[in-house]
Amino acid sequence: MLVLVVEDDPAVSGPLIEGLQRNGIETEHVAYASQVVAAASKGSIDVVLLDLGLPDGDGLEVLRELRKVTDIPVIIATARGDETDRIVGLELGADDYVVKPFSVRELAARVRAVSRRRRSESTLDTGRVIVDRVRHVVHVDGEVVDLTAKEFDLLAVLAEEPGRAVTRQELFSRVWDPVWIGTGKTLDVHVASLRKKLGSAELIETVRGVGYRLVQEAS
Ligand code: CA
Repeated sequence: MLVLVVEDDPAVSGPLIEGLQRNGIETEHVAYASQVVAAASKGSIDVVLLDLGLPDGDGLEVLRELRKVTDIPVIIATARGDETDRIVGLELGADDYVVKPFSVRELAARVRAVSRRRRSESTLDTGRVIVDRVRHVVHVDGEVVDLTAKEFDLLAVLAEEPGRAVTRQELFSRVWDPVWIGTGKTLDVHVASLRKKLGSAELIETVRGVGYRLVQEAS
């Protein structure tokens, strides 16, 4: 877990960074509004902690700029009682806020919570099969499986609701074309190939006369 700490006051950032590290969270630190977008969009940052009062600009303006280029989770740090900043911040797409002075333990818990929430929104976790729709990656039993775009889309539809029999018509219209006209052979060919790549054919069941379903695993 890597947090970008945006804070200009060394009396705040020093203990904060130390405290986060004690809680098992790595940090990078910038003190100026002008540095935030570049630092946050490098790809390695998991969560941004954003102080709103920065020497060279307004934190809310930084947040607005940030949201144009990335949907990285952002927690804003607002002054006590400043409700307007908090509301505007959340409207601009902040994921959460902490009110200064905040405890490092509380912040660490919120960092983990927003990061977990963001991951679960983009990921279909059915147990053995995990489909990450943002990174476009599929894991089966912990191993990455290389799929074509159509195979990925097909699996993503099935993984939305394991155990549900998805009709052939729904699969056609969501993965290929809403007005599909054909024999249906394409669907069966893709399912066959998907089963092979998943490494265990029984993960996708044929529902006779209906379509297919991803097996529901006991949890
Ligand atoms: Ca400040």
